[in-house]
Amino acid sequence: MQIDILTLFPEVMAPYLEASILGRASEVGVEMRTVQLRDFASGKHKVTDDTPFGGGAGMVMMVEPIHKAIESLRGKNTHVILTSASAKLFTQEDAKRLALEYEHIIFICGRYEGVDERVEEHIANEAFSIGEYVLTGGELPALVMTDAIVRNVPGVLGNEETLYDESHDELGKLEYPQYTQPRVYNDWAVPRPLLSGDHGAIAKWREEHRKKNKHHRT
Ligand code: SAM
Repeated sequence: MQIDILTLFPEVMAPYLEASILGRASEVGVEMRTVQLRDFASGKHKVTDDTPFGGGAGMVMMVEPIHKAIESLRGKNTHVILTSASAKLFTQEDAKRLALEYEHIIFICGRYEGVDERVEEHIANEAFSIGEYVLTGGELPALVMTDAIVRNVPGVLGNEETLYDESHDELGKLEYPQYTQPRVYNDWAVPRPLLSGDHGAIAKWREEHRKKNKHHRT
């Protein structure tokens, strides 16, 4: 699998993509790279944004450099995702689907007041928001979605990190509380059933104590 992130600020993304699990993902054939959008802009000044038609504050990212970049990157099984504060919310189900269905994903990172609407209408296959708030750019959303997708690619997680019984495996289902050493810290004791060695009692305790998501929308 290949993930390309089209951005005006590739330098802010590299350290995260190179660290930890994402860094190791290349060992199982997951390649992630950033692509500088400005390289696809024309003219001496390589401009990628302009003022909005109809007036209003701020600048809008132009369709042409984005279109040229996507056309040059697009392969046979490419899925193009626009980051957008006004799009549908990205979920664990999306992460799993994208990890299994596509060999190549391209994220488009917006900046300023956003992206010319023709990108969403004619170029992107889908658009996602990572939450109901506005960020400065699409770089963090692209990293968040890349992380969630890549850990669902078979073979990426080692034995010590597992996809088994995680929060959001099923809609609205959350993980149970986890504890590790020491058994008592500062008078805060680990619940007894977890120390019992009785697998039935442990499973029962965990099922009864699954976290409840106060914010989940049904
Ligand atoms: N004017 C836009 C609006 O009101 O929806 C916000 C533009 S925002 C400052 C610039 C870029 O950051 C967006 O084009 C998008 O790529 C990205 N962005 C901001 N918040 C986001 C979010 N919650 N999810 C995904 N992308 C986001």
